[in-house]
Amino acid sequence: MAEILDGKAIAEKIKQDLAIRATEFERKTGRKIGLAVIRVGADPASAVYVRNKIKACERCNIRSLSYELDESVNADALIALIHKLNKEPDVDGILVQLPLPKHIDERVVLSEITPDKDADGFHAVNAGKLFLGEKGGTVACTPRGIIELIKSTGVPISGKHAVVVGRSNIVGKPVAMLLLQNDATVTVCHSRTQNLKDITLSADILVAAVGKSNFITADMVKRGAIVIDVGMNRTENGLCGDVDFYSVKDVAGYITPVPGGVGPMTVAMLLCNTVDGAMHE
Ligand code: NDP
Repeated sequence: MAEILDGKAIAEKIKQDLAIRATEFERKTGRKIGLAVIRVGADPASAVYVRNKIKACERCNIRSLSYELDESVNADALIALIHKLNKEPDVDGILVQLPLPKHIDERVVLSEITPDKDADGFHAVNAGKLFLGEKGGTVACTPRGIIELIKSTGVPISGKHAVVVGRSNIVGKPVAMLLLQNDATVTVCHSRTQNLKDITLSADILVAAVGKSNFITADMVKRGAIVIDVGMNRTENGLCGDVDFYSVKDVAGYITPVPGGVGPMTVAMLLCNTVDGAMHE
């Protein structure tokens, strides 16, 4: 029976430390660290994510500035707001909640956030620094949280075979780079991968970022493996991960639950990125 990696508890501890750092920053500078959160449209899932992020800011003594724009807003107006926030000295981090409405090109919008305030770590400059192994960049929140969860097991990453299923720019690719930086041997799988099961069965560390409910089943997991479930799939039975938790927990050594695994760590890492950004100024 696998040990459950309690992302909620680990995230809580991280937030306690952040609250201390943010309060110390305020004492030294006379201002609170600030995070601007921009949401466009009325997507209910985005509204929940944004609410959680704002609540977490309050908990950590970080000032949140919330901008709710109408679904019909055009890219120019959104970019004008970002430019204004880029120049605002009290704003240390800017977050644009994804997805954006179809008529707005996310890549164009995200590239307008100054890399120093890119709390999500999606800007090409920050992604490039991660790729090159340069220090001082902002690492995307979910991948950063995944590494923290793996490290919380105490099992060394170095030399292990890490298999990442999914190659998105926000999860799969950056987490693969971080695992490589931590000296894992990394295999990245995707929808064209052949013999997926043969590959996942050799994983000491398995990261599932597929976006398909219960996609990873017990017969795909090596006994004792660390299994990180990134999936957040809304089904008629509620929120469901990419890993079939109930069967995989009997095979894996460690496993993250959904909810309560990667999700809370993502929020904690967003706040980490914001506090780190303020401290680096
Ligand atoms: P994307 O849809 O961008 O990427 C999914 C990836 O899965 C793609 O690379 C795709 O391959 C691959 N894939 C799809 N089908 C298969 C298959 N049959 N076999 C192997 N690979 C396959 O998703 P994201 O990376 O954005 O998100 C993944 C999941 O994580 C979602 O459930 C999302 O909601 C969740 N998520 C959770 C977060 C959190 O904080 N907990 C944060 C971000 C995401 P290809 O590239 O070939 O199409």
